[in-house]
Amino acid sequence: MPDLDLVVKEIAEEMRQRPDRGEVATYIPELARADANAFGLAVIDADGNVALGGDAETPFSIQSISKVFTLTLALGKAGDRLWQRVGREPSGSAFNSIIQLEYEHGIPRNPFINAGAIAVTDLILSGHQPREALGEILRFLQFLADDETIAIDEAVAASERRTGFRNAALANYMKSFGVLENPVDFTLGVYFHHCAIAMSCRQLAMAGRFLAHQGRNPTTGRSVVVPERARRINAVMLTCGHYDGSGEFAYRVGLPGKSGVGGGILAIAPGKASIAVWSPGLDASGNSHLGRIALEALTKRLGWSIFGA
Ligand code: GLU
Repeated sequence: MPDLDLVVKEIAEEMRQRPDRGEVATYIPELARADANAFGLAVIDADGNVALGGDAETPFSIQSISKVFTLTLALGKAGDRLWQRVGREPSGSAFNSIIQLEYEHGIPRNPFINAGAIAVTDLILSGHQPREALGEILRFLQFLADDETIAIDEAVAASERRTGFRNAALANYMKSFGVLENPVDFTLGVYFHHCAIAMSCRQLAMAGRFLAHQGRNPTTGRSVVVPERARRINAVMLTCGHYDGSGEFAYRVGLPGKSGVGGGILAIAPGKASIAVWSPGLDASGNSHLGRIALEALTKRLGWSIFGA
């Protein structure tokens, strides 16, 4: 077995030198400020060993990676009833597509496209004030990562609220079908803020450990979700975690993963490790360009693809 720390450092160095860096997202103006040269990688194995490379300690906007954690919370609240509000099939369309919603009567294809994540946020919000719901999401991440310093980047949240016309369209459209229970503004406010949570690769890999270890934090032994739920969340990550790039990600990397337009990816090697990578430049599907390439190199060198060597 190659040395984990060495492999992580090698990959970070290879990524640092590559000229192809993808395109930083600009549709949320505040995200456009990210440095295209940044690259970070963090891997935490079953024994709690932490391997870091590049800018693994620099916080970035986790954006849609937050949807893994809101899905976990919503399943905790509603159990399988959640699947009446949102499907679990890959969408094959862009992350913010509205077309499918009309055909499918306002029920989003899966919890990881924007429409689906907005419906999940609405479920978490029901019975609470937006501030309480947001506090619950943030505290959940702080608990999982064992780090109370994790916070929301208010500038990113405000920037997204100012320019989130398409998300507002998706939310209003779902509201017209009765899929959202709360005032659209409240649901969107919570959604924009949880997307604006800032975390480093190390913090994100810490937060993902329960998914790699059958729902348990392997260090404390504490259960976060039952094994069956962890397995199912991983399944949705594998099939839907990269929008219409999900097939390509499974083909090349072979792990459940969730990307965000901030350039982060959380990937899970079941039984082995929780992995977070960050590089702000995106590919045509809105997924981190070098993040995917780095994960492909990592799973190849360590033999970690769930589909075998
Ligand atoms: N907050 C972003 C949006 O709603 C999330 C998109 C993403 O990370 O893919 O557009």
